[in-house]
Amino acid sequence: MTANLPDEDVVVARAPAKINVHLAVGPARPDGFHELSTVYLAVSLFDTVTVGPGEGIALTVSGEGTGAAGGASRVPVDRSNLVWRAAELLAQHAGVPADATVDIRKSIPAAAGLAGGSADAAAALVALDALWDTRASRADLVELAARLGSDVPFSLLGGIALGAGRGEQLTPVLARGRWHWVLGMAREGLSTPAVYAELDRMRAAGRIPDGGELAPPDPVIAALRSGPLQALAAVLSNDLEAPALSLRGDLRRALRAATDAGAAAALVSGSGPTVAALARDEAAAVRLTAALAGEGLFRTVRAVHGPVAGARLVG
Ligand code: ATP
Repeated sequence: MTANLPDEDVVVARAPAKINVHLAVGPARPDGFHELSTVYLAVSLFDTVTVGPGEGIALTVSGEGTGAAGGASRVPVDRSNLVWRAAELLAQHAGVPADATVDIRKSIPAAAGLAGGSADAAAALVALDALWDTRASRADLVELAARLGSDVPFSLLGGIALGAGRGEQLTPVLARGRWHWVLGMAREGLSTPAVYAELDRMRAAGRIPDGGELAPPDPVIAALRSGPLQALAAVLSNDLEAPALSLRGDLRRALRAATDAGAAAALVSGSGPTVAALARDEAAAVRLTAALAGEGLFRTVRAVHGPVAGARLVG
């Protein structure tokens, strides 16, 4: 709960982390963004955003990667926090003053390739919409989300979705299955722009294919729909894995440790450095979590499942 506020005055929302089970990256566009073809999967690791009445925006952050949980703080508490921008954007859209206390409790580490900042922004949109009674339609919120960042619309939607454009053009994917993953989260984050820059460098040097033709997501979507774990394990792919590995050689060992410990497959999540290991079932995920935690390669190892719903009010 936000400090100094009676419980009845606050609104709480949470939003999930994402992993990309398919991420094909095209060449850089004239606007600097890369064209993507991706399949997002929302998983059960959530950040919580609590908002209450205030004057102006007052932001507090706690949890993973904020200093309080150890390590240097990577999460800003000023205007550069995506939540602050979400609040200003929604207030402007609705014609209300941007007045709120906002408390972010992070379980999703920053700069981990898990879209933690996007989850916070999506949860803030949902919570502030309720606090300010702005009654924005879902379509309005999605439009505001796309202006905040490529992954924010998916953080609102959740589930499984195909992402095109910068990743913000979404088509929901219906699948019956539920998959168990183990996330190995590193001590140090990786900057998304640095990983894209390394991708461009490696392509220019001819070390990896040029990305002229985006690998289609169809095999992954077919595997998600058909259910067998081995089918999904065989088609997981991420064009950002090679540049993430080039910047962080220790990730190779982390991926190998995951498969050695029994994962059906393991890949770098988004721009990394989180390693997402696909477990054969829930019990295997528990064993895999213990095995990976024992390796000492990660700051935090968590068993999660997905798909889960997108940003929602809590309670
Ligand atoms: P993505 O996978 O969406 O590219 P990511 O998951 O690797 O991103 P984020 O956790 O979203 O990375 O954070 C990226 C950077 O954004 C951080 O290093 C931080 O400087 C900034 N940032 C702004 N707002 C937030 C927030 N609420 N939580 C975390 N980082 C934030």
